[in-house]
Amino acid sequence: MNNNYIEKAEEAVLHTYNRYPIVFDHGEGVYLYDVDGKEYLDFAAGIAVQSLGYNNREYTQALKDQIDRLTHISNLYYTVPMMEAAQKVVKASGLSKVFFTNSGTEAIEGAIKAAKKYAYARDGKADHEIIAMNHSFHGRSLGALSVTGNEKYQIPFRPLLPGVRFAEYNDLESVKALVTEKTCAVILETVQGEGGIYPAEEDFLKGVKALCEEHDLLLILDEIQCGMGRTGYMFAWQEYGVEPDIMTCAKAIGCGVPVGAFVLGEKAAAGSLGPGDHGTTYGGNPFVCAAVSKVFDLYEKEHILENVRTVGAYLTEKLDHLVEKYDFLKERRGKGLMQGLEVTGRPAGEIVDRALENGLIVITAGGNVLRFVPPLVITKEDVDCMTEKLERAFADA
Ligand SMILES: *Cc1c(COP(=O)(O)O)cnc(C)c1O
Repeated sequence: MNNNYIEKAEEAVLHTYNRYPIVFDHGEGVYLYDVDGKEYLDFAAGIAVQSLGYNNREYTQALKDQIDRLTHISNLYYTVPMMEAAQKVVKASGLSKVFFTNSGTEAIEGAIKAAKKYAYARDGKADHEIIAMNHSFHGRSLGALSVTGNEKYQIPFRPLLPGVRFAEYNDLESVKALVTEKTCAVILETVQGEGGIYPAEEDFLKGVKALCEEHDLLLILDEIQCGMGRTGYMFAWQEYGVEPDIMTCAKAIGCGVPVGAFVLGEKAAAGSLGPGDHGTTYGGNPFVCAAVSKVFDLYEKEHILENVRTVGAYLTEKLDHLVEKYDFLKERRGKGLMQGLEVTGRPAGEIVDRALENGLIVITAGGNVLRFVPPLVITKEDVDCMTEKLERAFADA
């Protein structure tokens, strides 16, 4: 059956992805099932989205209840789900104000606009610069692409946003060297995801924060992939004690409904976007906000952070063991349940293909890295099952 659907899909869907030849039908817990009924253990979670696993009854019931009540009303009015979701984001982050978007990319767009407006309000000029990182990923719209340090994605779409300069991640001096009187913000992922799973070093992040304070630049931390508990902290920056001026969220914040957010600290909230400066028709509608609100409740109820710390430590140990055992595994990097294995001498993509045949979903990240971003509800037994399937895939590849 898979092949029939694939042919029909390729007839009609623009080919911007080389998709794996699987047609998924439904999910349950940490398992997915294709239209032929084949079972897959999922260590990708729809790219770090499905933190609660599939078909969490309380989550799906909350969505069903909200559908029966109201799904959309526009941002011209208040709704209770948006009030609740915003309160929960502010409480969990300790930041000040939130703007809900439909995606991560749009959260980045909003963060860039807020930084530009902050600098404009301060000095009355409109030609400010942003410092971003090489090997970063912030999204595919023209603004988000402009701060994405990957020429391959950028070249056909130039000219992009002017005034973006790229520093080396985890190299404080390279950031310092780019600061001018026009700089308004530094943007980086607390843990680089697409670039190959590189966590920020503590000295680097603290150094960037101090640099931002010294020059009154806004620190924008992209928590779209590494946030929402994935590293064992609700937001990855909380482990470092480095508070951003603006944080971007998406992916797991809705656990499957399209929603993102940019969240501003007091300084950025007070001095940047005001009425008329930014907007969205769908963003933060009651349907997606009912999801966000329920996600925060379930993180608490199901002790997600504790589980990530316990099972993340176990996964780390298992992956380190694999690096010792196999010559073609160069190193493990990551935090909690956001882990990467760098592969040398053979393509990681081929291992992914063999893993899929063995009923295991893993994905790759930049360079030649196997990426593990499972649902945050996985158990140690799931990790054991994963490593068994992965070792079989190593043998087959
Ligand atoms: C996925 C991702 C984005 C883009 O989010 P979309 O929802 O795909 O627009 C931005 N930044 C990071 C770090 C991401 O992982």
